Amino acid sequence: MSPLPLPRAKYAVNAIKKKVNDKNPHVALYALEVMESVVKNCGQTVHDEVANKQTMEELKEILKKSSSNRKKCMCPLLYPLWRQVETSVRSKILYLIQAWAHAFRNEPKYKVVQDTYQIMKVEGHVFPEFKESDAMFAAERAPDWVDAEECHRCRVQFGVVTRKHHCRACGQIFCGKCSSKYSTIPKFGIEKEVRVCEPCYEHLNKSVPFVVGFFACDSRDIEGGSREDVELAP
Ligand SMILES: [Zn+2]
Ligand SMILES: [Zn+2]
Repeated sequence: MSPLPLPRAKYAVNAIKKKVNDKNPHVALYALEVMESVVKNCGQTVHDEVANKQTMEELKEILKKSSSNRKKCMCPLLYPLWRQVETSVRSKILYLIQAWAHAFRNEPKYKVVQDTYQIMKVEGHVFPEFKESDAMFAAERAPDWVDAEECHRCRVQFGVVTRKHHCRACGQIFCGKCSSKYSTIPKFGIEKEVRVCEPCYEHLNKSVPFVVGFFACDSRDIEGGSREDVELAP
């Protein structure tokens, strides 16, 4: 999938990081899941924000923080659950660093993730068991979105009535009619149904394998709606 525009990627990642630092481990855990999903679905500008030294340091910092830094749960009934969630936060961070190190292993510019992972292993951090099958987004990268004044398929001119839409699979630009189908795109790690053009739909759904059932944010909210509105501006 094509990247979120840079300012939005920065904004999104910073907002998520703030939540990852929340005193409440339930909030932190949820934010980590959102972060996982955004990294999977929202492309290179988000990768740039996450797979860098600063974010790696911040995640390590959270691991270091003793649980005393987090808000204490005073309820004797909920306390064990609370502790359990704190443990989950830590293992989620380890899981993510490991998964990202794997996913970005062929990207020299994200080498810091690999390095962080290796150093942490040496430092004695115990990473959860890694399965290639959870390895999130495939190395294959979605094409960049093109811009044009007419539909790539039927050649209708775009304007106030005929809006521009991008096929998430091929990155080409289409009118609504020529891109009215939605599909998952497993090879790009896109597990939600996103807008695709007719030919890509046919192609993708000839041999759709299973959809891995892990958490995904509503990429259509992030990707679709307002982005197209932004593009529509004359
Ligand atoms: Zn068309
Ligand atoms: Zn297409």
